[in-house]
Amino acid sequence: MRSRGVTARVPAKVNLQLSVGPLGSDGFHEVTTVFQAISLFDDVTVATADKGEGIKISITGQTSGGVPADNSNLAVKAAQLMIKNYDLPQDLVIKLKKEIPVAGGMAGGSADAAGVIVGLDSLFELGLSRDVMESVGSKIGSDVPFSICGGVAIGTGRGDQITPALAKGSYNWVLALSGQGLATPSVYQECDRLREGLSIAAPVVSEPLMQALRAGDAKALGKALTNELQPAACSLRPALRLALDVGVDYGALGGIVSGSGPTVAFLVSDDDHAMDLTVALSSSGVVSSVVRASGPTNGARIIESF
Ligand code: ATP
Repeated sequence: MRSRGVTARVPAKVNLQLSVGPLGSDGFHEVTTVFQAISLFDDVTVATADKGEGIKISITGQTSGGVPADNSNLAVKAAQLMIKNYDLPQDLVIKLKKEIPVAGGMAGGSADAAGVIVGLDSLFELGLSRDVMESVGSKIGSDVPFSICGGVAIGTGRGDQITPALAKGSYNWVLALSGQGLATPSVYQECDRLREGLSIAAPVVSEPLMQALRAGDAKALGKALTNELQPAACSLRPALRLALDVGVDYGALGGIVSGSGPTVAFLVSDDDHAMDLTVALSSSGVVSSVVRASGPTNGARIIESF
């Protein structure tokens, strides 16, 4: 059989705001977050395969190390769910080309799940609406709906209830990457430990942040960045504080641990500024590599059909 396939390109995210409510009785935290999709991408190819082959996954790209090539991969989980929900053929090839850091707080696994959902929708001409695809994605992981949506959006609930936000402008980011990831559940546990005994309010969207986005004001946005998981990520990985300090010293408009970390995202004013900070971070010895990106970008979209 000649295989047919499509490739979806899916962005990483940074959280411009991440506010964490108290630990719920279901073991999860209610969050309010503002996501921005940025120009670091995974390419996700899904193609038909011969009957009896099952789902086969292969992973390449700069950040493929440590990504499971088995049924625990979120891309495979997404394929299994799509097959079950829409009675699709059970034999598929999935190819991931990864550029998004793994366990970096940038939704890398979620991006791949989103790519599979959007890819299978296109490959089998299911005609699913974005809302329906986001709802399928939310069964795989909290960040999957945003990876489908892209742009700038508010996430509530577990971060999986997505509302696109009004935002102007384009923003330059310098990302300080760590050689070793942080597991999201450990960061939430550390957050609970640090906040023990405190009364925690329900999370709400930051008005100064939304105002900065509506105005396209990078300076105001830099000041309004907040992440309530940052103290926990820094407690588990003290070197993150040193990286944040380098950003302050080199005049970043704002610096923040992205999501559960350990990536630190710095907002900068322009290309020259990005270059200066990239050099400073690279020579500081406190980060393992530095990449540049801009945002917002589109969510998961098809870039090739064959
Ligand atoms: P988030 O920002 O959504 O909390 P993250 O970016 O910090 O997530 P991921 O890159 O999604 O973290 O990876 C977390 C773990 O999930 C990895 O350590 C890996 O074992 C597992 N994993 C499963 N599928 C994938 C995938 N397709 N890509 C990367 N990691 C995956």
